Amino acid sequence: MDVATIESRHVLQTYKRAPVVFTRGEGVYLVADDGKRYLDLVSGIGVASLGHANPALAAALADQAQTLVHTSNLYYHGLQGQVASRLASLSGLPRAFFCNSGTEAMEGCLKFARRFWHTAGDTRRTGLVALEHSFHGRTMGSLSVTWDEHYRAPFAPLLQDVVWVPADDPAALAEAVSDRTTAIVIEAIQGEGGVRPLSPAFAAAVRDAQQRTGALLIADEVQCGLGRTGHAFGYQRLGLEPDLVAIGKALGGGMPVGAVLLSERTAAAVSAGDHGTTYGGNLLACRAALVFLGALTDGGLQEHVCAVGARLGAGLSELARKHAVIREVRGAGLMWGLDLRVDAAPFVQAGLDRGVLINRTATTVLRLLPPFVITAAEVDEALAQLDLILADGVQERSA
Ligand code: PLP
Repeated sequence: MDVATIESRHVLQTYKRAPVVFTRGEGVYLVADDGKRYLDLVSGIGVASLGHANPALAAALADQAQTLVHTSNLYYHGLQGQVASRLASLSGLPRAFFCNSGTEAMEGCLKFARRFWHTAGDTRRTGLVALEHSFHGRTMGSLSVTWDEHYRAPFAPLLQDVVWVPADDPAALAEAVSDRTTAIVIEAIQGEGGVRPLSPAFAAAVRDAQQRTGALLIADEVQCGLGRTGHAFGYQRLGLEPDLVAIGKALGGGMPVGAVLLSERTAAAVSAGDHGTTYGGNLLACRAALVFLGALTDGGLQEHVCAVGARLGAGLSELARKHAVIREVRGAGLMWGLDLRVDAAPFVQAGLDRGVLINRTATTVLRLLPPFVITAAEVDEALAQLDLILADGVQERSA
């Protein structure tokens, strides 16, 4: 039985998969079961930061798997503290709570924000302020602060008391945040919402609202964090000071690992037993995170992202001058969106036909989240292919 048939019978049908079966990978390329090679500009939705089959990651995981994989959080092991201290140096937030995915990191942020005000004895702080076009995950708390009504509606009732603010409206934010606000929830660059960077003016309004009301700030850095935008964290680019930060995706280079980073005051409000998870921060996950963080900070990967990201950004702007179908190019580092004047779906198909993986989000946006290790030559190859794909997609639409 072929892969699609067996899945159609036994796997819950929550995903609309492209009709391709990948069997192996190498750097920025994936290889399908028919031998066709694909240039991967999606990287498993921003996850395969070190590329596919990265030799250093593979060796570390093999070594760890042969030594010790999991012991639970009942006992110490030597790696969680190492990862947490590296994350503290990068973020300025002294403590980490480890989990297994982005949505769990967001759940942790929401719980720790609630816990902070509970510990403070402030029972009026029930509200959350979230942004239009946000995406924070699919579990009940994260979903409550995710904008798209069609993700939320089938699962109502969710957390009550969420106020939505347009992400480009500083005055609306000022009006929405009050002394009843638990936390403001942001992505420095909204990912699923269409690669939309927050403006410096909006960031200034966030800072003002924090100071005026004491509301906490939760920065969801699951997609835009950990070096992807050329900064260790997207909030740093905006001069923001979050109390809680959610991370995931790039951290494990493909191993499922997420974390909440906490300021000293939010951490101080949390007691033993308040939160936990069986797998969170196990040895295999932490070993992967150490390989990634080592490459990012000591191995020159952050500087590399800045250099290749600038090259990619300049090339995409060039494509926008040539292809009228592109309305706007948005992003930073290795996180880019081409906002088209039309539905982006035919362009994703044109990419598949040409052996290039790109992804559609927010209907009209072609999103690029390549592995951090993409070389300058591979960026040039991606741009040359996108030039062809943009022409193909326009033709396919008019055919
Ligand atoms: N937050 C952001 C900004 C995301 O982009 C995502 C996933 O795309 C999530 C949270 C949820 O992460 P996960 O799918 O690992 O649960």
